[in-house]
Amino acid sequence: MEDIDWKAIYGLTFVDQPGCWTSGCQSYCCTHKSDHLSFSLLTGGAGMVFFEQEYDFLTSIGRHQAGFEAASRRMKFEIEPGLELKFVLSKCALNGICTIHEFRPLCCKVYPFLPRVDPRTSEITGFMSGTVFDVFWPVIGAQHPCTLVRTKPEEVQEQERGPLTRLLEHPYLLFYFRALELFLTSVSEGVKRLHDSNPAFTSQALSKKWELLYLTGKAFDVERLRTDILRDYRIIAGRFPGLTI
Ligand code: SF4
Ligand code: SF4
Repeated sequence: MEDIDWKAIYGLTFVDQPGCWTSGCQSYCCTHKSDHLSFSLLTGGAGMVFFEQEYDFLTSIGRHQAGFEAASRRMKFEIEPGLELKFVLSKCALNGICTIHEFRPLCCKVYPFLPRVDPRTSEITGFMSGTVFDVFWPVIGAQHPCTLVRTKPEEVQEQERGPLTRLLEHPYLLFYFRALELFLTSVSEGVKRLHDSNPAFTSQALSKKWELLYLTGKAFDVERLRTDILRDYRIIAGRFPGLTI
């Protein structure tokens, strides 16, 4: 198994925009507060996701944010018999005040963008917004609540490009970032389909209905996602024999 230097990864700065939380965004990235969306269970801080190796690293050095371990659930997604994608879901109730800032999860460190990656070359091919909640903004035609996304996306993406390229040198992380990209693309297509087939829905009604579908595994085409992830797993494993996920 590849030995990833998680300590070095946690030392990287992805987004260098001090004080962006004072820009009037209500710390949207941590609270998910928005008048446009309405959820019952996926409320403030839900959907915190760790790659399994990342979570185990933070556990081994005792650097989880307050409350994270109690809220954590280990998850698996079978790609084919004997091959599973493994991650940990948690919830953050800190409302933007991390208890150990330098050890906030990678998903927080790289926000607001995730890389789109080519599994054949490891190259970054573009960027996408970083959470399942963000897929709603283009569909409902509302402006993105994150000030950085609205006002300086290119600058932030250029800040992220270097450190993300370093992460993608690791086949494990290349695979998981690619899987995340495929997952968010599927979710985005599902939200668009739901919107198109319910044109009279308000954005609150749309998000409520979507939440129910999402929590019951019906919000996107799971089988197609599985097929796409398996295809790209094989490409990456072919390039990096011995890849363990
Ligand atoms: S990353 Fe975006 S949403 Fe989060 S604090 Fe900065 S401007 Fe606000
Ligand atoms: S860990 Fe910190 S950055 Fe991440 S959601 Fe919680 S408060 Fe926000």
